[in-house]
Amino acid sequence: KAKALGDGSFQFFEPVMCQEAKRRLQLEAALHRALEQRQFTLHYQPRVDLRSLRTLGVEALLRWQHPEFGSIPPLEFIPLAEERGQIGTIGCWVLNAACHDVKSLNDRYGLALHVSVNVSARQLRSPDLIEQVRAALAESGLPAAALELELTESALIEDLDQSVQVLQGLKALGVRLSIDDFGTGYSSLSYLKRLPIDVLKLDRSFVAENPAGDDFLRSLVNMAHVLKLSVVAEGIEHRAAMEALRDALCDEGQGYLFARPMPLAALETFLTQEHASRTDGQ
Ligand code: C2E
Ligand code: MG
Ligand code: MG
Ligand code: MG
Repeated sequence: KAKALGDGSFQFFEPVMCQEAKRRLQLEAALHRALEQRQFTLHYQPRVDLRSLRTLGVEALLRWQHPEFGSIPPLEFIPLAEERGQIGTIGCWVLNAACHDVKSLNDRYGLALHVSVNVSARQLRSPDLIEQVRAALAESGLPAAALELELTESALIEDLDQSVQVLQGLKALGVRLSIDDFGTGYSSLSYLKRLPIDVLKLDRSFVAENPAGDDFLRSLVNMAHVLKLSVVAEGIEHRAAMEALRDALCDEGQGYLFARPMPLAALETFLTQEHASRTDGQ
């Protein structure tokens, strides 16, 4: 589209497609420098036991704050980092920072929280992953059993045979493995039998679509338990959802109802308050 200007020339407007492409290019260039310029931080979201409502662990969620573009959501920059081959370096930073933070938190407060770190498809295919995990544990001193790696169904299914091998290597280190966003992809329980997985994380959309007293939810949780998997529900926003999941014998939950992802300092306050309210009630 062009608009005639008074002087007889035309001013061209950028179509939406071009604007999107331009932003991608700008973000790509900025992403290269984000790590060294310390623009990444981790937020932590508590994961609670659905019966006692106690915090058992936290999920590390990456945040990118750019001086010019502001805060960029992970759903925008993670796929970009994957495509541009930067996820390996970024993912390695996340692993080290998360292990370090939770180890020091546990030490300072006498806790035994575990931490979950998201691992993308490309990281899973990288020959460096196992060594990166081993090094992050060794350098932080976090016990391997306190680290959980979250993988998605689609990443695992891309090459199931290779996934089995990598997962076995990771299990040999002693870490826990979970399937993230379960219910959004293939959602077949059969391939789970082949994988050394410990935890199934039900996706937020799945949780929202299956209301209280739902036989499907109950059966799914039951089947997961038969496979010796512990079940975590993501994105619990309302008490009713929490109760439905608890009735379906889901083990743990995560969501705004309990707490939002927050910086480490806020997590410390949250845990201190949680501890105080528990000892008050006794
Ligand atoms: P995810 O691993 O499934 O993480 C859960 C997402 O749900 C987070 O979004 C979290 O903030 C959001 N969430 C938690 N509770 C609620 C709730 O009650 N309601 C709603 N509406 N949302 C809730 P976030 O932080 O924007 O992260 C989005 C995705 O980006 C993550 O999904 C994960 O796939 C990816 N991601 C985040 N950090 C990393 C990372 O360090 N590495 C990799 N590879 N991926 C990451
Ligand atoms: Mg996750
Ligand atoms: Mg998820
Ligand atoms: Mg998700």
